[in-house]
This record gives sequence, structure tokens and C-alpha cells, in this order.
Amino acid sequence: MRLVRVLSQRQVFYGIFAGSDIELLRGEPFERLERKFVSVTANKVTFLPPVAPSKVVAVGLNYLDHARELSMELPTEPILFLKPPSSVIGPGAAIVYPASSREVHHEAELAVVIGKRARNVAVGRAFEHVLGYTCANDVTARDLQRRDGQWGRAKSFDTFCPLGPYIETELEPDSLAIKARVNGQTRQDSSTAQMIFPVAKLISFISEVMTLEPGDVILTGTPPGVGEVHVGDDVEVEIGGIGVLRNSVKSGS
Ligand code: MG
Repeated sequence: MRLVRVLSQRQVFYGIFAGSDIELLRGEPFERLERKFVSVTANKVTFLPPVAPSKVVAVGLNYLDHARELSMELPTEPILFLKPPSSVIGPGAAIVYPASSREVHHEAELAVVIGKRARNVAVGRAFEHVLGYTCANDVTARDLQRRDGQWGRAKSFDTFCPLGPYIETELEPDSLAIKARVNGQTRQDSSTAQMIFPVAKLISFISEVMTLEPGDVILTGTPPGVGEVHVGDDVEVEIGGIGVLRNSVKSGS
């Protein structure tokens, strides 16, 4: 099932995406799905980020091939950082290039959407807490990341967390093709099988640190090939079994 969040007649709804139609839901899809038995035409709604997280927890350096590319030692534990909810945008929305950066990069990532509150969850039970998966772009001001010595500013600008286009609820996350394209040219092309810490391990590890609430999102790290985007570029993140997340880059001034 593919879950979307849309604006229809000035109201926000979750819905089930079925090609050209969307079946609207009552309330949020976390505890249970309650259908409204009302369908809308997909081209008459605005697609929003498929979820509105209370937090986005991201993982640094989680792909073997990316660590090798950077000649970095493999981490022994996941490296965590946060992106604020204000950085989240939906499919088709513009990434705004900040005036304070000269080097903004794309990072294609598999996003995990939490469905059930998770606190101190064992690896073997981690998937019970997952609603589904979507595509993410962990947009990063690389120059500010280097200059600051930590990642808070570089990862947190408004619009720096595109998510979408929908949440796929029936998916095994551990061997999916993951790609990024800029203006149609492939920049990243790998598989989630390259993850150093797989999805279940990440959920367990993070839930030992902080309670994951329904709707919270985990960005699971990026494969090799990260690189610059510029104003006017079209950026796509494609994950096998999910779909394509498209965003353009526009000037902030
Ligand atoms: Mg990243």
C-alpha cells in the first residue's frame, strides 16, 4: 500500500494512493487505517510530505562503498544527528539554496517512517514499529559542515529534507536499489545492501537514545557519489520498490 498526505480543498488528509486516484483517510494512519470512502483525483490535490515528523533522526557514514570512497574507517556504532521538522518538504517542492553557502550537496537516502512508538526496542522486534519507507534527500551545505566542525547548521536549513512521494508499507528494506540523478544524469547508484548498520539495527540503536514517535523519520545514510547541486537543477532520488522523489533547486534571494 502507498500512503500519501495531500492538500485537498484546503484540508490536509492522509490517503491511499492508487495511481490516478487517492482514497482519503480519517485521521492519521498510525494506529489503524480508517477509510472515509471518498476518493479524489490525484491531479486535483497538492502532494505534501507523506508524514509530518516530530523529529528526523539521520545517520552519518552508513554505506560500505561510501566509507571506502572517502577512505574513512568504518564506524563501530551509528553516528547520529538530527534534522529539524522545519527542514521537511514534499515531492515537487523547491530546495532553497541558502545565501550563506557556496556548496550544497544532494544525498539520496532510504527513509524509515515509524508507525508505533519505539523505546528500547530489540533488533528482532524493530520492524513491528515501522509504518513504511519513502525516499529522502539529506541536503547538506558541505562548506558549512566542514567550517563548523559539527553538522547542526549544514543539515538544518528550511527545505533541506525532501521526503516522498509516498510511504510504501509493504517492503523489505535491506536490498533496494538507490539512485540520485541531477538533471537526468546519474550521480549515485548503489544498494541498501551496502548499509553498515541495517534498518533494524538503526531503529534499535536510536530507540535506546530517544523515544521514536509515530510519524518520526530515520534517514539511513547515503551511498557514494554525493555532489553539488545548483540553482535551477532538478534532483531525483529513486529507490527500488518505492518510486521517485523529484525536487528543483531555487535561489533563496
Ligand atoms: Mg546523509
